Amino acid sequence: MENCIFCKIAAKEIPSNAVYEDEEIYCFHDLEPQAPVHVLIIPKKHFASLNEVTESAEDKELLGHLMAKVGQIADILGLENGYRLVNNCGEDGMQTVPHLHFHLLGKRKLTWPPG
Ligand code: 5GP
Ligand code: ZN
Repeated sequence: MENCIFCKIAAKEIPSNAVYEDEEIYCFHDLEPQAPVHVLIIPKKHFASLNEVTESAEDKELLGHLMAKVGQIADILGLENGYRLVNNCGEDGMQTVPHLHFHLLGKRKLTWPPG
């Protein structure tokens, strides 16, 4: 998707600090971390938000793959004590970048409920 910052990050047109990458997903450190560990996990395929994910076999495989990798990424980051996986969707969800991404936060006691 043209002019999408996370598509450009996934394509290495914009630099980022990588944690994990494979053919389908990319994980990199957030520019403004909200916890000692704060990374973003994105599908390389562009979806503006979770609302664009369909029940097609392709989308289900991709999102299933992303979720199945979270534990491995948490291991890479040393999050053995736990973490939080967050998706902000749309205006009320305070989504600011319109390319589907999951925040993985950890290495501090996270408060609940979120604001
Ligand atoms: P959202 O508010 O959409 O859920 O999250 C977007 C996240 O992307 C924010 O935490 C923000 O700090 C991060 N972010 C925005 N632009 C960039 C960038 O160019 N590089 C990196 N690494 N993170 C970014
Ligand atoms: Zn994109």
